[in-house]
Amino acid sequence: MTSERTRTRLIQRLRDEGIRDERVLAAIGRVPRHLFIDEALASRAYEDTALPIGFGQTISQPFIVATMTQALLDGGSLKKVLEVGTGSAYQTAVLAGLVTEVYSVERLAPLFQLAHKRVRQLGCRNVRLRLGDGTQGWPEHAPYDGILVTAAPPEIPQALLEQLNLGGRLVIPVGEAGMQQLQLVVRTEKGFTCERLEPVSFVPLVPGQA
Ligand code: SAH
Repeated sequence: MTSERTRTRLIQRLRDEGIRDERVLAAIGRVPRHLFIDEALASRAYEDTALPIGFGQTISQPFIVATMTQALLDGGSLKKVLEVGTGSAYQTAVLAGLVTEVYSVERLAPLFQLAHKRVRQLGCRNVRLRLGDGTQGWPEHAPYDGILVTAAPPEIPQALLEQLNLGGRLVIPVGEAGMQQLQLVVRTEKGFTCERLEPVSFVPLVPGQA
């Protein structure tokens, strides 16, 4: 079966599972997920499952990518978005099709280099990648209208809260393995509001340099 047909099937499945934002579904439909994983696993690229990308890391499950992106956008449009945990750059590429500018930080050099190559090959001109510790955010480009974190810290890093614009939205898995919750934090005039979205399972957000 062609990747386009299996991708269409994946989109229908995400719709059936409750993803409502058609822009998010369309953006996922445009990104060839098989190009973000090892060739040996490419035949499984359009299953709704996380897959290994080496170095103990995983490419997120499409349903989770869709859920997080939908929560980040909240039906609106965002200009500047920071992603922490580039990994394969799949989520990065999905975001690139939906917002004006994407900044993404990855801690592991080999994944960063591969992500860089992919983003260039796919011609995502609105994406900038950085090798470093994403628990510190990327202060030079702050504030962000949205921040999406794809690895789980035990607590929300203070730097990420500080780099959020007024009205800005942070989507982040929080907690230890086996008991993580996806949380949505919104910066308001008075401070921050926090909502728990659903239980999730992410690799840990590891602070400091690799
Ligand atoms: N969105 C990615 C998820 C990759 S897994 C994808 O779908 O492919 C999470 C990634 O976060 C891993 O690549 C891991 O190396 C990275 N990571 C962990 N701690 C980090 C940190 N402190 N700063 C930046 N990236 C980090």
